[in-house]
Amino acid sequence: MVKIPIFIPIYSKGEKHKGMAIAAKRKECVGLGEWIPSIVNHLWWSAQTCEGNAEVLKEKWVSVIHHVTNRHDWPGNKHYHRCAHEPLDELTERTKLWLSPGSEAHKALVRTVKDKRLLKDLDHLTKCIHTTTLEVYHSMYLKYLPKRTYFGYDEMIHASMLAALDHNNNAIREQAVFQDGETVGEPKFKISWSKVHKSFRARRVAVKKDYGYMTAMVADVLSSVTALKPSMDMTLDRTHIMAPQQRPSRSQIIFQTQQFSHFK
Ligand SMILES: [Zn+2]
Repeated sequence: MVKIPIFIPIYSKGEKHKGMAIAAKRKECVGLGEWIPSIVNHLWWSAQTCEGNAEVLKEKWVSVIHHVTNRHDWPGNKHYHRCAHEPLDELTERTKLWLSPGSEAHKALVRTVKDKRLLKDLDHLTKCIHTTTLEVYHSMYLKYLPKRTYFGYDEMIHASMLAALDHNNNAIREQAVFQDGETVGEPKFKISWSKVHKSFRARRVAVKKDYGYMTAMVADVLSSVTALKPSMDMTLDRTHIMAPQQRPSRSQIIFQTQQFSHFK
């Protein structure tokens, strides 16, 4: 069964390391891979704009199965009846790689989007996520997968996993404190103007992110490689960057270079 990779970071304490990972098999997904960045973005957009209403979130999320087939309105929903984007111009409409309804790729998408576990997780997403947290996650996700770069399917899956790991390992951090000076030991805040509150607001500054989990991951990778190939020499092969002959003395090299240079 073909599935699309969607990684939902978990926000509640105690469940930090769970994340939903739905992987895909490439060959059956022809035409679907191109849509994945937009589909993932659509999930974040749905969560950001649902105003805490799980029903709206789900209707928005599920609507993507119509949009990818170039259908932008549909019957049956309670809240969300047509795409929120502007009408598409002719060029976009002509050049987008629309999926045919009922094709294998489209069926795979429908299965993933309507996956019961995923839809249940969306309830959780509405209840637990503060919009700011979601925005922070999304901007970090874009650091791993910048929109301007084209990524292959494998990169998409792995970068999404890395973004989710980064988030889940650093979502709950202590407030930073001043390490020296007169204010040593006092909690750090950042002051900025809030357009929403129309006043200056103080935002707590968290301690730096901890990437210690990456060391553990690298150690795991190395140990699994050595386990697979116990005889493998783990030192780097440097022959490709080494000179093919022994180095003469310094004065000899300078002399030889001058012989063939313009400064002779
Ligand atoms: Zn649409």
